[in-house]
Amino acid sequence: LKRGDTLLYLDKVSKSFDGFKAINDLSLVIAKGEMRAIIGPNGAGKTTMMDIVTGKTRPDTGDVYFRGDVDLTRHDEASIATMGIGRKFQKPTVFENHTVRDNLKLALAGTRGVFPALFHRGVKAERQRIDEILETTRLTDRRNAGAADLSHGQKQWLEIGMLLAQDPELLLVDEPVAGMTDAETEETARLLKEIARDHSVVVVEHDMHFVRALDVKVTCLHEGHVLAEGSLDAVSADPRVVEVYLGR
Ligand code: ADP
Repeated sequence: LKRGDTLLYLDKVSKSFDGFKAINDLSLVIAKGEMRAIIGPNGAGKTTMMDIVTGKTRPDTGDVYFRGDVDLTRHDEASIATMGIGRKFQKPTVFENHTVRDNLKLALAGTRGVFPALFHRGVKAERQRIDEILETTRLTDRRNAGAADLSHGQKQWLEIGMLLAQDPELLLVDEPVAGMTDAETEETARLLKEIARDHSVVVVEHDMHFVRALDVKVTCLHEGHVLAEGSLDAVSADPRVVEVYLGR
């Protein structure tokens, strides 16, 4: 795989906190258009890895390339956010006192909280894009509901929709199904698979039923590096993976 074909390329990245190696010589490649699931026990370094990609944390050593040649370690969090990398944290942060549609409008405006920016794109194009996102995120019927009245799962979908409104090439999604019902979890797998048709997606997730439903390549992190990588069946049958999950 040439670097030019990669969307995200972590090359021998390390990061210590007070002498403790949270990320240890981690190399990881996400191809353009790929969806990848990242698993691993608590403390494996998953959050720190996402923090490094988004510029929230600067690695001690190693490089992180986006689209082959942009070295993200040379950019700060605010500038990385404008490069086409969107992150969804575990806890939804929608605007509870706005409707679903207005939340998407605000996200589309790009300047959360400032309405006048809406008129940049033209009202019709904007309405179309919002309708598309409502469809994708299963919220068309809830478009006029207050965000506060959504179920937990629907709030997560709305937040995914708000990410989509920013039109990122790469979505980083942190434990999207935590706290969801089984039905919402299944729907989330379908929804992310649809999004992955024209985006690259990295999903950090503990729920193995969900990871199975995603049906994508899995990377298992442990002690800050890649312990195993491949299909979920192959990874979960790997004795080293079994040991780190059982040996805790
Ligand atoms: P995961 O998301 O896989 O559970 P994390 O990336 O959150 O793992 O954490 C990896 C290790 O790094 C943990 O041992 C954690 O305590 C440590 N760590 C993460 N962030 C910090 C920090 N800001 N200061 C000190 N230690 C940290």
